[in-house]
Amino acid sequence: MARAPFELAGIRVMPGSRTQIDVPVARLYTHAPLHIPVEVAHGRQAGPTLLVCGGIHGDEINGVEIVRRLLRSKQIQGLRGTLIAVPIVNVFGFVQHTRYLPDRRDLNRCFPGSEAGSLGGRVAALFREQIVDHASHIIDLHTGAIHRTNLPQIRAQLSPGGETERMANAFGAPVILNAELREGSLRHYAQTRGIPVLTYEAGEALRFDEWAITPGVRGVLRVMRRLGMLTGEHRRRQPPAAEVANGSSWARAPIDGILRPKVRLGARVAKGEVLGKVADPFGNAEEAVTSMADGIVIGMSRLPLANEGEALFHVARFDAIEEAENAVEGFHSSLAPPDPLY
Ligand SMILES: [Zn+2]
Repeated sequence: MARAPFELAGIRVMPGSRTQIDVPVARLYTHAPLHIPVEVAHGRQAGPTLLVCGGIHGDEINGVEIVRRLLRSKQIQGLRGTLIAVPIVNVFGFVQHTRYLPDRRDLNRCFPGSEAGSLGGRVAALFREQIVDHASHIIDLHTGAIHRTNLPQIRAQLSPGGETERMANAFGAPVILNAELREGSLRHYAQTRGIPVLTYEAGEALRFDEWAITPGVRGVLRVMRRLGMLTGEHRRRQPPAAEVANGSSWARAPIDGILRPKVRLGARVAKGEVLGKVADPFGNAEEAVTSMADGIVIGMSRLPLANEGEALFHVARFDAIEEAENAVEGFHSSLAPPDPLY
């Protein structure tokens, strides 16, 4: 028996076909219509419905490129199940190069949203009803905030043997943060609905970081393979080992001043180790930023200007620090030289 068509926003996608759909969101006050662009690939055979979305924070654009490459990958031809790919969710913020919506709300704090609520609440409700509620699995693509960069990492709420853990391990990012859910986030909404969901955090806002994009594309494809959505021949390379962090903390600026970092993203650091120094412009007052714990630097500020108390280095703690260090080294060595026109 033939598989039923997939319907999204009133458009029907036939089995074995792909369709781009512009989901109407709102109008700008110029009267110009605004859409969330979506591509649906509906397989001939039944399988999971995976939503891959980027740009819930409008300035986090690595995910946009991950989605583009995913859609151009030969591996997804003949997929089982259905892929819903959304490169840019917060189209308002994307146009303005900002994380936020025009009402200064964070869309990732607005779920489940409400049709009668604020702009953020309305966009969340529309995205949820038209798109998210179709999904059986979700991968949400993020980067660090502006002037901050993240080592590629998965954030998820893991329960041993659960589907989310299976997806997290398949992805192959070097670090997994068993992260608590933030109220109003897409991840929180999905989790309460029982939809397995991963957040991939890699690179910096308003940048294309090749070392974040390539592993992102590979990771999504690996998850699809693990879910049985991809068939056909494939070099059965094991995903690189990932270590699950048991917590993390930020090292903060001890004084106002100018930062000279001493460590790089992915570095293994010891408790009390100097991560950088903050000094006034003359170099008179100078204080060290030290690590609160043994761990791996999984996020850091890229702006050398700091106010006292500002979060500068994000250090994740591990039970098995050696394994975590090996996972990061293995990850770095797995990256081929980038092809900028890929
Ligand atoms: Zn984000």
